[in-house]
Parts: sequence; structure tokens; C-alpha cells
Amino acid sequence: MRILIVEDERDLNYILNKGLRKSGYAVDSAYDGQEALDLYHANQYDLIILDLNLPKIDGLEVLKEIRKNDLNTKVMILSAQSAIEERVKGLDMGANDYLIKPFDFRELDARIRTLLRIDFKLNPNILIVKDLTLDTNSATVRIKNNDVELTRKEYAILHYLMINKGRLISNEEIFEHVWNNEADEFSNALKFHMHSLKKKLAKYSDEEYIENKRGLGYKVIVDEKD
Ligand code: CA
Repeated sequence: MRILIVEDERDLNYILNKGLRKSGYAVDSAYDGQEALDLYHANQYDLIILDLNLPKIDGLEVLKEIRKNDLNTKVMILSAQSAIEERVKGLDMGANDYLIKPFDFRELDARIRTLLRIDFKLNPNILIVKDLTLDTNSATVRIKNNDVELTRKEYAILHYLMINKGRLISNEEIFEHVWNNEADEFSNALKFHMHSLKKKLAKYSDEEYIENKRGLGYKVIVDEKD
């Protein structure tokens, strides 16, 4: 899952960016409204965390621009306690949730999980494919009672594929949702992480979970009864 943080307070932006990366998301940061729109138009975000009081282009204008053609990208507003009217306006304009500053990072993290889950109708936080389970609350992966130790990137790839289980996901789509803007040549990196991920899964089970369609992408294989 890929998140854009739009916040001009650099310290806060930095803390959020660091925290959300730790939670397994690919994260980009913007520090004003113009930069936010530039990044938004260039990339595919699952969620945008949007401060309202921003330099260059104000947060409500950014939201308006996003909602012109896009009802899918989740938007969470950050605002000061005093900005009630703006917050209400933001919700009217299609923001999905808001958080009042100052807030506890754990609350932000929990609300993000909820917002992303609504879209994918996950039940409730645990994804299951065959004997493989992925718990988004604890960011853990298990096969038959064995903990599978994954790197953040491996976890993020598996998470994205499992949310979309049964659907062939192109390399580009994985890249868009799992890597942030700092990534350079991705195809080798993706191959590398995928190889390592599959190897770790194979350690605990003979089941094949991820199918590679050469040149097209990857797919999590579902049970026939699904
Ligand atoms: Ca601000």
C-alpha cells in the first residue's frame, strides 16, 4: 500500500513518514499543495494524508482537484482543533476521515488500516490463502503455526498480492503500490524480493502461493472453492 503525506511541518512529516514505513507502507512526502498535486498526478496512491493549512495551494483546493475524477483514493485530513468549519467542508468535499492535531501515531496507524480495509472489504484484519495467513494488525505472516520472518518489502509485496488474490497483478502495479519515489530500477529489485519471499514461504509448505506469469506479473493462487 502506498501513502502520500502532505504536511508542511517538516518534523511532523518526517515522523509520520518514518512511522508509516515501519508499518510496512511505501511512503512519499510532500511539503506544499503544489508538490502534493504533482506527486498525486505522477503516482498511484492508496491513501493521502492531507494537512489543510498548506503553502502554495491550500489543502481543500488539493482535495477538490483530487476528487474531480477520483473517488477511489482515500483521503485523511489533518487539521487543528480550531478548524472545525474547514474540517466539515473537507468531509463534504469527499475526504474519508479526519484527525485532529496533535494526535497519537497509533491512532493514525489504526485509522489507516480501517480506511484501507473498507475498500478491500477485508475480514477483519486477517488475510488467508490456503494455510497462509497474514495479520495486518501485527504485520505477521504464518504458515501452519510457523512464523515466517519477512523483510518489510517482502511483507508489503505479499500483502498487496493477497488483498488482490486471484487477480494477475502486473509488475508495474506492484511497483506503484509497494515502492516509493526513491526507488530506481525496480524490475531487478522486484525479482530479487519476490525470489526471497517465495523461498521463505517454501520453507514451511509445499503449496504454491504465488504464480509468476512471465513478463505479465504475479498472482496469488486461491483455493478452488474460493
Ligand atoms: Ca500546515
